[in-house]
Order: sequence, then C-alpha cells, then structure tokens
Amino acid sequence: MIEMANVYRQYVPTGILPCAISATYMGAFHLLRCGHIVAVCDDNHQCARNCLHVVLTLGAGHEAFHKHIKQDELVCPSCFKISFSTLKANFHDTPLVKALRPTVSLTRSLLKRLVPALSDKDFLPNQYGGLLSAQYTNPNQDFLDYRQIHHLSCGHEVWALPMRPCAANCRKTNPMCKSHGFPQNATQADAIICSECMLKAEMIEDRNVGPLLTFDPLEGK
Ligand SMILES: [Zn+2]
Ligand SMILES: [Zn+2]
Ligand SMILES: [Zn+2]
Ligand SMILES: [Zn+2]
Ligand SMILES: [Zn+2]
Repeated sequence: MIEMANVYRQYVPTGILPCAISATYMGAFHLLRCGHIVAVCDDNHQCARNCLHVVLTLGAGHEAFHKHIKQDELVCPSCFKISFSTLKANFHDTPLVKALRPTVSLTRSLLKRLVPALSDKDFLPNQYGGLLSAQYTNPNQDFLDYRQIHHLSCGHEVWALPMRPCAANCRKTNPMCKSHGFPQNATQADAIICSECMLKAEMIEDRNVGPLLTFDPLEGK
C-alpha cells in the first residue's frame, strides 16, 4: 500500500481570518462581495450585508446566522478608489457617510501592525515571506501543478508556495478554485493574501493623502 504524504504539511496560515465570528472571537477582517478583504476600524466587528458569505447565503433565512450581521454595508476602498479617511474628510456631513463603519484595505503597513514580527525583508519581491501570493502567469503554457495555484474571489489566480489548502477567499462557484478538487484539500478559515490587490490598495491609500472633491458617495452606489 502506498502511503499518501501530506502535500500541505508546510502550510502556515496567514492569520487573516475574514468574517470570523464565533461566541468568543470576532475578527476585524471581512471578505466583501467584490472579493476584496477589508478591516473594520470600529469596535463592532459584525459582518455586513455585503460580506461575500452573507450575499451567498442570505436566502437561507437562518435566525442564528442573521444575528451576526449588522444591517449596513462596508465600504471597499479598492472598489471606491478612495480611502475611508478621504471619504470622511470630504463627506462627513452626509447621513450615508456618518452611518458607515470605518474600513481600511489590507496593506503591508496594516499587516505589519498586526504582525509586529514581520520585517521589511518579508515583503521583498518574489520572497513574500510566504505571506503574499503573486499573480500566476504561464506565457509558455507549461505543465502546471494546480495544487500550487488558487483562484481567489478577487478574480486573480495566484501561486501559493509552499503548497497550501484552499482559503476562505478561494472561489466557491463558477469557476471554482481548481485546487479544491485535490485530495487532502480541506478549505481553511484563513485568507490567501493577493499581492496584486494589496499593491492596488496601497496605491489608492498613497494617492488619497489630500482631499478628493470629485467623488460623490451618493452616486453610483
Ligand atoms: Zn459573517
Ligand atoms: Zn464579514
Ligand atoms: Zn472591493
Ligand atoms: Zn483554492
Ligand atoms: Zn486579487
């Protein structure tokens, strides 16, 4: 009999647990309908109506499930292309903005605050400290081991090395993350951190230092 080695033995969770709500723990991170992850900078860590898993399961009508949802929507700075502080600075008088819980995108500076042990070296390109996952490209159509690639809800397909099982933010539906069908792959509660989305979020944060007056949060919502 051939013994199956555990291909995921080197897996180290990223520690980012989106929409993690239990009786004893409520995390700040949420995976939104758009596929991006934000952190709520508020004491209230409840899920929002636009958390992806809420959108996918709201029809269930399960009372206990609904209790962990605050009936609001979390702003995704990456999709709005504006940081929350800029939004607040310019539109603090509008009832809509007043009611919003402050959010920040997942960036390297946020990760460093959460994981003080991280050093700049962990973020060097192509090193990623096992924490950031780079977008996958295969220009020569080489043979690929799809256990190393995950299709995330943000739309990006990324490398995850060392090999890891599917994450909270792997695509669950059409198309489903291809990694999912492999033996021993049990979806985990932590999220894969998409370096492409993280870099975009950082660009938006950097750009939004001054007031941005052309954006109307009441439009196009
Ligand atoms: Zn939730
Ligand atoms: Zn949530
Ligand atoms: Zn988004
Ligand atoms: Zn996956
Ligand atoms: Zn992404």
